Amino acid sequence: MSKHFDIIIKHGTILQMDKGLNVLTDHVVAIRDRKICAIEPLAHFTVNAGVEGVSFHSARTVIDATDCIVMPGLINAHTHLPMSYMRGLADDLPLDKWLKDYIWPAEDKLLNDELGDKFIYDATLYGAAEVIRSGTTMVSDMYFKGEQMGRALVDAGLRGIIGEAVTDLIQANGKDRIGEYAVDMNREFASTNLVEFSVAPHAIYSCSENVLRKCAKAAIDNDLLLHIHISESEKERNDCIVKHGKRPVEYLAQTGFLDARTILAHGIWVDKDELTLLAERNISVATCTESNLKLCSGILPLRDYMETGVNLCLATDGAASNNNLDLFTEMDTTAKIHKMINHDPALLPAHDVVKMVTCNAAKAIYREHELGSLLPGYLADITIVALDTLNSQPIFNPYSHLVYALNGHNVRDVIINGKLVLKNRKLTTLDEKALIATAKHYQEKICRILPL
Ligand SMILES: [Zn+2]
Repeated sequence: MSKHFDIIIKHGTILQMDKGLNVLTDHVVAIRDRKICAIEPLAHFTVNAGVEGVSFHSARTVIDATDCIVMPGLINAHTHLPMSYMRGLADDLPLDKWLKDYIWPAEDKLLNDELGDKFIYDATLYGAAEVIRSGTTMVSDMYFKGEQMGRALVDAGLRGIIGEAVTDLIQANGKDRIGEYAVDMNREFASTNLVEFSVAPHAIYSCSENVLRKCAKAAIDNDLLLHIHISESEKERNDCIVKHGKRPVEYLAQTGFLDARTILAHGIWVDKDELTLLAERNISVATCTESNLKLCSGILPLRDYMETGVNLCLATDGAASNNNLDLFTEMDTTAKIHKMINHDPALLPAHDVVKMVTCNAAKAIYREHELGSLLPGYLADITIVALDTLNSQPIFNPYSHLVYALNGHNVRDVIINGKLVLKNRKLTTLDEKALIATAKHYQEKICRILPL
């Protein structure tokens, strides 16, 4: 009986990013119904039907990945896509001043405008296009107006976990019912098979202990992911000790966060005791190296992470503090900065850095059973990187190239949920020129309403 496939990817160097870090050549990846259904030797896929009637003729789309790296789609474990239009809005400032004097006032005006919903939708769509173009197939996001963000992700064809941000101020305004919103939205978006919602208290300094406890309880009761910024600045850590008599991770433990499916963003100002606590509870950290460097927030203690075994993945944070959403440059910077400050060029080898945007990131969001590796039965989220540009040849080690030589512009094709959303460097779901025109429109609007 003949098998039918939606997409077949032939040739290419396949990085499975599985436990053995297998690298396959002369193999084929076959996709059907949103999933990878087979990864088999090319010889099995002959024109005249080979093993079990499998042939290239039975695929709707055949992608020739000669001179390409085929890898799991990259996962950006902490970002804020709706901040895409705030790229470069206010740079060269410390975190506290950046947030209080620029970002929060800007958000106050833009989101409360009668067109606030449209702003969120448009900005998320723009961010989604940027991440797809650079090989990212999934984001774990945190922002406001999650329904609009969800609609944008579905329209772009990007997989995502959307955290509706919770703060004391939002609670005081009665705008969010902690947990209920995520449950409602999960029901509404269930049929998309792309978007799910999490509970996302912004930080320990913007949420009271009572609100944090409610968030943890809501996440546990409804089996939702819990997503929070933690230990991003030294001030945050010191204030926590003064106010609560505990270090931030200990304080989170007190509020129930370590009993939930939790992902922490940043985790810079943590000590070994805190990391041991995270490792024991299997809780991961998404580090945002470039954003942390730009805001001078600090550099996380990588050796302590390695010694305690805390799962670490990479993220860009929002475009307002990065200022791009390209995980390739994030890999490059992360590898180099930790080598430098540890005076050890052997630290953090390239394959370990690639794990941080694939299998480690899938584990961080509790989806390692279906994402982050190329294996039969896994969801078909795949990035194909072309080695057809001057910065890509010669190639001796694909992991080295992904971290040190290539960038998001080398991504040629992207498949998400079994659908080709980037084909030969062209978005199939969105009009890139229209997106850029819309971004310029918002630039003018922001200049009109903010005293820049
Ligand atoms: Zn953030």
